[in-house]
Amino acid sequence: MTAYEAVIGMEVHAELQTASKMFCSCAVVDSTSAAPNQHVCPVCLGMPGVLPVINQQAVEFGLRVGLALNCEIPEFSQFARKSYFYPDLPKGYQISQYEFPLAVRGWLEIDLPDGSTKRIGIRRAHLEEDTGKLTHVDGHSLVDLNRAGVPLLEIVTEADIHSAEEAEAYARKLRAILRYLEVNSGDMSKGVLRMEPNISVRPVGASELRTRTEVKNLNSIRVVARASAYEIERQIKVYESGGTVQQATLGWDENRQSVVVQRLKESAEDYRYFPEPDLPIVIIPRDQIEAIRAALPELPDAKRDRFITAFGLSHYDAAVLVAEQAVAYYFEAAVQAGGDPKQIANYIIGDVFRQMNNESRDREEIGAIKLTPKALADLVTLVQKGTINHGVAKKLMDTLYTDGGDPARLVEERGLAQVSDESVLAAAVIAVLDAQPGEVARYLAGEDKVVKFLMGLVMKAMRGKGDAQMVQRLLTEQLEARRTN
Ligand code: ZN
Ligand code: MN
Repeated sequence: MTAYEAVIGMEVHAELQTASKMFCSCAVVDSTSAAPNQHVCPVCLGMPGVLPVINQQAVEFGLRVGLALNCEIPEFSQFARKSYFYPDLPKGYQISQYEFPLAVRGWLEIDLPDGSTKRIGIRRAHLEEDTGKLTHVDGHSLVDLNRAGVPLLEIVTEADIHSAEEAEAYARKLRAILRYLEVNSGDMSKGVLRMEPNISVRPVGASELRTRTEVKNLNSIRVVARASAYEIERQIKVYESGGTVQQATLGWDENRQSVVVQRLKESAEDYRYFPEPDLPIVIIPRDQIEAIRAALPELPDAKRDRFITAFGLSHYDAAVLVAEQAVAYYFEAAVQAGGDPKQIANYIIGDVFRQMNNESRDREEIGAIKLTPKALADLVTLVQKGTINHGVAKKLMDTLYTDGGDPARLVEERGLAQVSDESVLAAAVIAVLDAQPGEVARYLAGEDKVVKFLMGLVMKAMRGKGDAQMVQRLLTEQLEARRTN
């Protein structure tokens, strides 16, 4: 049997979170909250005789992304008309960029499940405008043009992606970077970030590029992974049975968990690209580009590396913390508040994520939970100073997560401070052993695991507040003492 490898290039359309549209002053609104066709004007409705004006903020956002993706910014870029007819495109053409995109020749590093990293080449990133949105009901099609003219950045990779796992890792990293740059919310379910893998397969070792298919408008990272895996498998089966893969545009059917053919692919000349005569060439002075580069925030990879060197975190923990910007900020705020970084990382990745999972909350919402970074830092410090034990801290976590509050005050109000008074603990141990002669006998007969059970009884008698290490020591001492008596 032939072994195959996938060859995937990814095209991503990211809406830019500007206040107004790409070529007019209409507001960019959340498609789920605004009534249809409320944010439209002659420009974005494609009326005759109107003139577009380039949105400066959109250009700056596009440059931010280009620079963050290690791209070269050419001397100039130029808008072009991409002509095609569709009811969601009132002008009959989309203003895009073709020969002269905003950014070219960059790369992005992806993190693979086995802990390795890999660079994916970025071919280009160009500015364009979004189309309207069609809704099909009862045999009618309704169009909402609020979205028509919303700024889009199209980001295209080289064909460097060779598996569904790599496609998923790319999608994840790109989404994180866009969110760090604050140019896109990353809310894929709302359609603000759409991913389209171009997929072909070939025998391992071959250098030819075979016919590819394109899976359009994938709206979650999980679907990027599933659709890619499905399409790779489908093409391999076609070749294995002696067939040929047809060039096509595909969609993903979430219910059937399979691809569906939408249409046979147009070639570039079908779009009749030509330079947009109503817009000037865009030339950004070098000093402005450098100013944008200097103002870029610390990006996920740099932050991860800093967490490893500055705080001694493991590569895994650091990568988990930086995957969502909000989590990274939460962690940094807790460290700033004086908590031990490793302990804070453990509590976030363990207890906090577990609580958030229970509530089906996304990790990006961590800034809104009632347990503040300061409270987490204080809790960690209380454990380290021996004021409370680990078990009490876990229970306090639950309270703080649900109701918020100040850990030190809760410890005092509820009398949760750890008991390390040896005479008090010894008395509790002796009382338990006296009440459990059978268990003591089993221990003396060699059943070591009895210690754990007795430990539980002592901690229960101490209402969970005993110094666990001290209780364990006293318990063993007292049990051994009974061996001779
Ligand atoms: Zn408008
Ligand atoms: Mn496009």
